[in-house]
Amino acid sequence: MSANPAGGATRGCVAILTAAGSGTRLGAEQPKALVELRGESLVVHAARRLADSGCVERIIVTHPEGEAERFAAILDSSRVPIELVPGGATRQSSVAAALARIDDDVDVVLVHDAARALAPPELVRRVYEAVRQGRRAVVPGLPVSDTIKRVAVDGAGEGPVVATVDRATLRAIQTPQGFDRALLARAHEAGAARAAQEGDAATDDAGLVEALGEEVWVVTGKEEARKITVPADLLLAEALLSRP
Ligand code: C5P
Repeated sequence: MSANPAGGATRGCVAILTAAGSGTRLGAEQPKALVELRGESLVVHAARRLADSGCVERIIVTHPEGEAERFAAILDSSRVPIELVPGGATRQSSVAAALARIDDDVDVVLVHDAARALAPPELVRRVYEAVRQGRRAVVPGLPVSDTIKRVAVDGAGEGPVVATVDRATLRAIQTPQGFDRALLARAHEAGAARAAQEGDAATDDAGLVEALGEEVWVVTGKEEARKITVPADLLLAEALLSRP
């Protein structure tokens, strides 16, 4: 146990690193988290930055079914112990599987996507510290530059505009997201019926906390934490790594 800025005793922080997705949208033949950027896979980049933050005592990585060996071969447990858990059909079910491995004596859980491989240690610390200061659900977010419209989409994804949303109050939400463990566990339990189907499942953990009616606090995100989804995102990530 160690001292906590809010005054109480801290009992530890575990990170869940979701990496059980496919590489379909990236055009990869292998799981996205194994795609390489500068000679290292996305999951390795993400795990190292979590470890470098200095606030994580253990990392639980969700991997696609049948891929445990390939993941174990590249992840380095020497600084922070890394545990592997098979993921589920949706991101929400993958996180739930990892959360089930975390004991009640842990008080903070960070949930991070391997697809946000370059999220820097500084951002991990920013989220962690906000939780330690008493915010029980914390997400990083950046202002959006596009004009965002709500559209009554048809099957082809086209249709009439319903509304233009006020851009000034919008934030594109990233990971890592930080939570009081008990609150996150309660949110997953309450939302468990949504986890099986991609169309119903929560796309982030904060969404499950919001569904409970609890506050989710937004801190300033980082450009490097943008999600790598399509091939152009990999090019941008390469460029960010080349920055002096
Ligand atoms: O598919 P999407 O890009 O939204 O996935 C976000 C993160 O969730 C990725 O890091 C992916 O590996 C992970 N994921 C998972 N289990 C799934 C689907 C996605 O761990 N079933």
